Amino acid sequence: MRIAITGGTGFIGQALMKALMSLGHSGWIISRSLPDKAPGNGSSPAGGFVRVSWGQLESSPQLLNGVQAVINLAGETISQRWTETAKNRIRSSRVETAAKLADILNRAGIMPKVLVQASGVNAYGFSDSAAFTEESPTVEEDFLASVVRDWEHAAKAIPAERKVTLRFGVVLGRDGGALPRMLLPFRMMAGGPLGSGQQWMSWIHLQDLVQLIIHSLDSVTLEGAVNATAPEPARNSEFGRAAAKTLDRPYWLIAPSPPLRLALGEMSDLLLKGQRVIPAKALANGFRFQFPSIQEALDDLLARS
Ligand code: NDP
Repeated sequence: MRIAITGGTGFIGQALMKALMSLGHSGWIISRSLPDKAPGNGSSPAGGFVRVSWGQLESSPQLLNGVQAVINLAGETISQRWTETAKNRIRSSRVETAAKLADILNRAGIMPKVLVQASGVNAYGFSDSAAFTEESPTVEEDFLASVVRDWEHAAKAIPAERKVTLRFGVVLGRDGGALPRMLLPFRMMAGGPLGSGQQWMSWIHLQDLVQLIIHSLDSVTLEGAVNATAPEPARNSEFGRAAAKTLDRPYWLIAPSPPLRLALGEMSDLLLKGQRVIPAKALANGFRFQFPSIQEALDDLLARS
């Protein structure tokens, strides 16, 4: 399949690219920058993926002729202090990129067979008690929920015969994303619950996410919002105990909420609040998770730590 991917240079994108290439897919990585030695001429490759810049596509949208699938992952990292400027960048990098992609495809008159659009479980807001499926209403009550709403809305303009919006949980991988930072206190013998420890974390192993993105490309019956989370979300205390066990470190030191809020500001919501999200549609569509529980995921990810 000829695939155009944004965010293909990132933590998830790089793992996805490896898997797509091993399956013989080819296409374009749309990026803000081109690697030094890349030909950068946007020509259609015989095999593999070529990198093209947004600027090249804006002046020559027809460079994407022949694209059959689009995967839109691009967005500024949320792992930074949420100043007003940073919040604007976090929102606009997603909304404007989706709009730009829509404009490029529309101007070239391209109608891909499928769009896989990244989103987040933040769409559902926070709760210590509710379980959210794709049937649950989305909210706008906090910053990330409103970003996700605007992002999903902007992506509606991207043309495609079939659209899958994957609402990612926290993506756990060995060498990037949130996990290395989450494990730091455990490695320093200072692991324990964050705040009450009761907050939910809906997470997914990077390899399961990559496979779910590929499943979304292939499964013509999958459409609309799809939760990309493991079937067994974990409370913060369950995650912590599993991490401590796997790393053979103690689980004892409570990190109280007030200093975390003071140190991290609004971004502390990511640590102190959460949501329990169930991947009802992926399971009903026949997707099988290789790592359904947090202990299985951590055993795999930390096997060589
Ligand atoms: P990364 O930060 O690793 O990569 C994101 C990519 O987006 C970058 O490689 C970059 O591509 C592009 N990008 C970064 N900043 C900007 C910007 N200001 N404007 C336009 N493009 C930009 O993210 P992940 O791989 O971790 O995540 C991919 C997507 O999945 C993100 O949109 C993220 O919000 C979402 N997500 C991730 C989760 C996670 O746990 N990792 C959880 C929930 C959602 P380039 O430099 O080539 O242009």
